[in-house]
Amino acid sequence: MKTAVYPGSFDPATNGHIDVIKRASKIFDKVIVTVGDNPDKKPLFSTKERLDMLEESTKKIKNVEIDSFSGLLLNYVKSKNSKIIVRGLRAVSDFEFEFQRALMNRVVDDSVETIFIMTKEHYVYLNSSIVKEMARFNGNLNDLVPKNVEKALREKYSKK
Ligand code: ADP
Repeated sequence: MKTAVYPGSFDPATNGHIDVIKRASKIFDKVIVTVGDNPDKKPLFSTKERLDMLEESTKKIKNVEIDSFSGLLLNYVKSKNSKIIVRGLRAVSDFEFEFQRALMNRVVDDSVETIFIMTKEHYVYLNSSIVKEMARFNGNLNDLVPKNVEKALREKYSKK
């Protein structure tokens, strides 16, 4: 049984993330999508909100589980009996950061592999910050985020 862990902030999940989740679900027996509580980031959505949005937008994919973690990712991965970390790759801008992280993780634990999945060309420049900016100024979010995420974004900014 091959279990992969896909960690991220998912603040909020975009169609780029969902595309990576779908692709990973075809490769691995189980994919655990896990929302990281990163103390350095100030998320727009609470962990619970991010988990609920991910649950809703991946409910049709049977071998996906949604979870959250804090602390060291490697410890979390081991606690799930997994040896695979999935990360998405967009344009070159992701590469250096992801490369450093993957290699550092390997220095600490050589038995855990990081696998990169490229998203559909259409989502190559999509990220959560752009989506939030679009939503804040009432821009069109069509095909950028799942419908439930769009609704949550509209609600969030209507209160601000
Ligand atoms: P983090 O804060 O850990 O970078 P994100 O939620 O921004 O978390 O992203 C989680 C993972 O998904 C990262 O590997 C990131 O590169 C990837 N990702 C984000 N957006 C896209 C996208 N549009 N296409 C492919 N991968 C993406």
